[in-house]
Amino acid sequence: MVIAHRGASGYLPEHTLAAKAMAYAMKPNFLEQDLVLSKDNIPIVIHDVHLETVTDVAQQFPDRKREDNRFYVIDFTYEELLQLNVTERFDAETGKAIFKDRFPLRKSHFKLHSLQDEIEMIQGLNKSTGNNIGIYPEIKDPEFHNKEGKDISVIVLKILADYGYKTKKDNCILQCFDAKELKRIRIELKSELFLVQLIEFEEDEKNLKEYATYADGLGPWYQGLLKGKDEHGNWQTTNLVKEAHDLGLMVHAYTFRADDLGEFSSFDELLDVGFNTLELDGVFTDFPDKAVSFLEN
Ligand code: CA
Repeated sequence: MVIAHRGASGYLPEHTLAAKAMAYAMKPNFLEQDLVLSKDNIPIVIHDVHLETVTDVAQQFPDRKREDNRFYVIDFTYEELLQLNVTERFDAETGKAIFKDRFPLRKSHFKLHSLQDEIEMIQGLNKSTGNNIGIYPEIKDPEFHNKEGKDISVIVLKILADYGYKTKKDNCILQCFDAKELKRIRIELKSELFLVQLIEFEEDEKNLKEYATYADGLGPWYQGLLKGKDEHGNWQTTNLVKEAHDLGLMVHAYTFRADDLGEFSSFDELLDVGFNTLELDGVFTDFPDKAVSFLEN
């Protein structure tokens, strides 16, 4: 399956409704939402707990930064956040774009939005097009939210349930890097949603059995699954995907980017290694159109 990573983020500023509408039209299986709470407890669709690398917060609210010189989503009300202009991701020090060939910086008109706004757009498009595309929300940094006195998981689960996402049949996958929190979502908060445990580092492999006690899937970094090529030029892999499959876990790896190929000669070659060599069940990609057409072909 294909998961539109932050929307069609290879083409439009990540996590904007425009990037989500474009991604929707490319017919991936899921659209991804990273979630961070506002001061007034509205889940905002944004990748970082900080604002200054995708918005003009430093210009509009220069005196609202913390001692570490960063601007936090959680320090702003939803109404204040709606005043910000969103742009392609940039380096806050140099002001330069992270991906130089993507949508130009500070052009057109993009805004932040809530989880509810995005669900309503996707459900609306499901109605108007007759498609059934799912949502793939990520609870960002629950420990940070907790230190700020907020329980992001409880708030997000309530909204998901209100919009009909309650069980594994409801076309919603919930993801989180924090294993303690994802386990809490299953055990203590009694969620029946399809849960994906995101992992970053290779040493996490030995925790697979524990993950399988509460999660339905695993979300590893694909580059951590590759061990270079052998003398015949074939990619060698870790056993993680096989071990996960043996435990009944699906594997959706991140992040497949056509403009960040590393050692691969083309995006199709990278996708071929992902789906056919690694035998992934799904990929998170900034270029959902390319992954969808790869699978169709
Ligand atoms: Ca994410």
